[in-house]
This record gives sequence, C-alpha cells and structure tokens, in this order.
Amino acid sequence: MRRLKKFLRCSLGLVSPIPRVVQVEVTGRCNLSCRMCPRGVMGVPERDMEFEVFVEVFSKVPQAEEVILSGWGSPSYIPSSTRWWRT
Ligand code: SF4
Repeated sequence: MRRLKKFLRCSLGLVSPIPRVVQVEVTGRCNLSCRMCPRGVMGVPERDMEFEVFVEVFSKVPQAEEVILSGWGSPSYIPSSTRWWRT
C-alpha cells in the first residue's frame, strides 16, 4: 500500500521521483565536545569520507538542488576542505 501511494504521488507529480536534497556526512570528526552529543554513545568513527567516495556520491545525484554537508561531525574540520567544496 505504501509503495502504491508513493507511485501515485510520483505519477501525479506531487513528489519528485529523484532526490532534490542530499545530505552527506563527510566526516565523523569534530573539534567540539557538546554535552548533549551522542557521538560517543553511537560510536561514530573519527574519520573522513574519502574524496573519491564524495565525488561518486554526487555523480549519482547530479540533479540535486540542495546539498547538506552535515552529520555527526564538522565539515570544516577537513583540512583540505576547499577541494571538496569546489566539486
Ligand atoms: S558533532 Fe555536533 S553535537 Fe557533537 S560535539 Fe560536534 S558540534 Fe557538538
């Protein structure tokens, strides 16, 4: 039933069949220690996404109108971030 509803919404043009907003967690590192942060409990790995993976992700969604580089880490923490932002 859920799939039928989605199919009908897409068919009627009420919902885009392709993602318009993409959220990517480019890093699990963060230089802050917010008291409410669940990163430690969740076991978020302290590492960055490989640049090649980042490029691959966006090659799959060229129609994206909005990109959110956020998650359980700070994107500004990536030392070579300028290369990422130009992609
Ligand atoms: S990931 Fe967000 S909530 Fe967690 S320490 Fe960093 S800024 Fe704070």
